[in-house]
Formats: sequence, C-alpha cells, structure tokens
Amino acid sequence: MKNVYMDNNATTGVAPEVVEVMQPFFSELWGNPSSMHYFGGQVARHIEAARDQVAALIGADPSEIVFTSCGTESDNMAIRGALEAGGPHMRLITTRVEHAAVLGPARHYKEHDGVVVELGVDASGQLDPSELRREAAKGPAIISVMWANNETGVVFPIEELAAMARDTGCVFHTDAVQAVGKLPIDVSQLPIDMLSLSGHKLHAPKGIGALYVRKGTKLNPFLLGGHQESGRRGGTENVPYIVGLGKACELAAQHLPTESTRVAALRDTLEAGLLEVCPDTSVNGDRVNRLPNTSNISFQFIEGEGILYHMSDAGIAASSGSACTSGSLEPSHVIRAMGVPFTAAHGSIRFSLSRYNSADEVDYVIKTLPPIVTRLRELSPFV
Ligand code: PLP
Repeated sequence: MKNVYMDNNATTGVAPEVVEVMQPFFSELWGNPSSMHYFGGQVARHIEAARDQVAALIGADPSEIVFTSCGTESDNMAIRGALEAGGPHMRLITTRVEHAAVLGPARHYKEHDGVVVELGVDASGQLDPSELRREAAKGPAIISVMWANNETGVVFPIEELAAMARDTGCVFHTDAVQAVGKLPIDVSQLPIDMLSLSGHKLHAPKGIGALYVRKGTKLNPFLLGGHQESGRRGGTENVPYIVGLGKACELAAQHLPTESTRVAALRDTLEAGLLEVCPDTSVNGDRVNRLPNTSNISFQFIEGEGILYHMSDAGIAASSGSACTSGSLEPSHVIRAMGVPFTAAHGSIRFSLSRYNSADEVDYVIKTLPPIVTRLRELSPFV
C-alpha cells in the first residue's frame, strides 16, 4: 500500500536539511544565548543568522522579526498586544473565517466588553473590501485578516485591505501562517504592520513561529519576562527550533518560484481527475485567488469523516471540512460562513499538497477515491 500525505495545511514533514542544521544545538551548542561567555555568544550568532533567513523570505528587516512558539502565539501577540497598546477605544475588525488562533482572542476581547466586528464572506469565501473600508473608517482599530484560508486556500486581497487600514489609521495584522512559503510575500512593498507565520506549515518543526512587527508599530509584549527578543518576548530562546525555522525559510525561498507552479499543476490534475470521475462533486472556494497547494472538494450526500476513514485505510491522509466537535458532525465555521448547502458541506474534504508530493501520488488518489465515494453513497440515506 502506498502512503500519500496530502494534509500539509495541518502540518508538514520536517525537511531533512532542517533536521541536519538543528542537530548541533542538541549536543555541543547548548549554551544560553544571553550568556556573556563564548559558550553563549557562539549560539546567539545562529539566532541572528536565522532571523536574517526568516526576514529574507518575507522582505522584512531582521530587526522586525520576533521569534515565538507557534502561529497561535504570534496571532495572540499581535492582536492582544495591539489592543492593549491602543487603549480602551480600540476595536478589533476581523473575519468569520479566521483560524481559532484569531477567533479565540476575538471572543476573549468581546467577553471583556471589547468591540469586535466580524466580516462575512460570500459563497466563494471572498470578503467584500468595501465593508472593511466602512468599518475601518469608524475609528481606531486593529484589523486582523488572514492572508490565505487554511481550509479552502482562498487568498484575500491583502494589499488592498492593508492599504485601506493605512488610509484610515488602523493597525493591520495578517495571519499568513498558510501563505508564507507558498506565495511570494514582500512586506517592504505592502502597508502591513504585523504578520504571523508558523514553522510547521513550511517544513520546520512544530513549536516555533515568528511575528513580523513593522518598526514603529505600537505593541505591548504578550509574554512578560526577560529582555529577550529586544524586550518584545520574554523567555530563553528555543535555539534549535529557531535555527530550524531559519533553514526552512531559506529552503522555501529557494523552492517557491518553481514548486508553487509544479504543486499547483498537481493540485489541478487531482481536482480535475476527481471531478471528472465522481458525479455530484464541487470545489469549495474561489478557484482563481487560491493557494497553489489546496483543494477543498465537496462530495455530496456523504460524510467527510467516512471518506477520510476509508482513504486512511488506503494510505491516503487528507482532512475533513467538518469538525467532529462535541459529538456533533457540524460543518466547519468556514464552510458554514460560505453558505455551502448541507448535503455538500458535510462531505467536504481538504487536500493540501507540498513540494514532497508527486504525480504518481496524485494518480493513486484519483484511482483510489472514486470507488470509496461510490460505496459510501450506496449506503447514504441522503441519496
Ligand atoms: N493560523 C492558521 C491560518 C493556521 O492554519 C494555523 C494552524 O493550523 C494557525 C494559525 C496556528 O498555528 P500553530 O499551529 O503554529 O499554532
């Protein structure tokens, strides 16, 4: 049986080159980077080299990169730090389709009497920029809008939205956890104030992330403690993981120009193959403005969980657009926000590819999945 991993928006395999550069920091190079002696100094140098690599991938100045423990921390740091720095009149403007790492702080702020505006999306998962402009013009706010959606891959018009934020004097943060390494990003050319990224979505390990903070952005520290990260985030640095993130960013920058086209072609072949063979099947989300690696497909009349289970038995790993939370098979908040009809929403599957996927693997999925769908439909009460 083949093993085909197509769940790269959940997490990616760590690149062998990344593992290799991390190794010495678990053996001989274990000093504390804050120490005055040579033992610390030789380690501190590697943190700064990694900062340069991360900055280079997104067009930032190295001094604008703060290392964090994950994408969730980066999002919390940006949102909570900007709300606290901005004072009691700050509103939070975000969207209904954000990741929990943004919706969680939004809910918390609302529970503490903060004003939160959640913008909706249309059937293709796209925002109406004029709605954002109207809300932004109402007064001080931090705007947090994801660059690319983790479930559908839909890419928001970040340049346009960030420009609106700048025009209206609002702070602009983007959760770019799914975009970094998959799309070209150059913050030096965009009016973005803060940008979150996460290592394990781009072939670095889990448990490392970064927040880009444009010089001059008002931001209170989220983790109070030592002077690390120029006082912006306390805590002794996770040196091996920081070094790994740096290498992963360097590799992403090298691979991006060729791999994004190759991976998009694989994704398109997969999508076309499945849509051709399986009737009553549709793609969720804007197919033009979309990440190159993601396809979210609804197989009508059957449950996503059933498909996943049988695919997993055949060695294929993907994920479902419906979250089996608290015992109910509710479609995810993203699929619901797009108004996908009930019979399609429940059977949505996300395929997310990476530079490690091959054409053979795509062929295998196109061959293996349709009989699974046919069998499940024969048992479905909705057909
Ligand atoms: N934001 C988005 C869009 C994500 O997809 C994820 C992870 O799935 C996160 C934030 C959270 O990142 P982490 O798992 O590093 O906390």
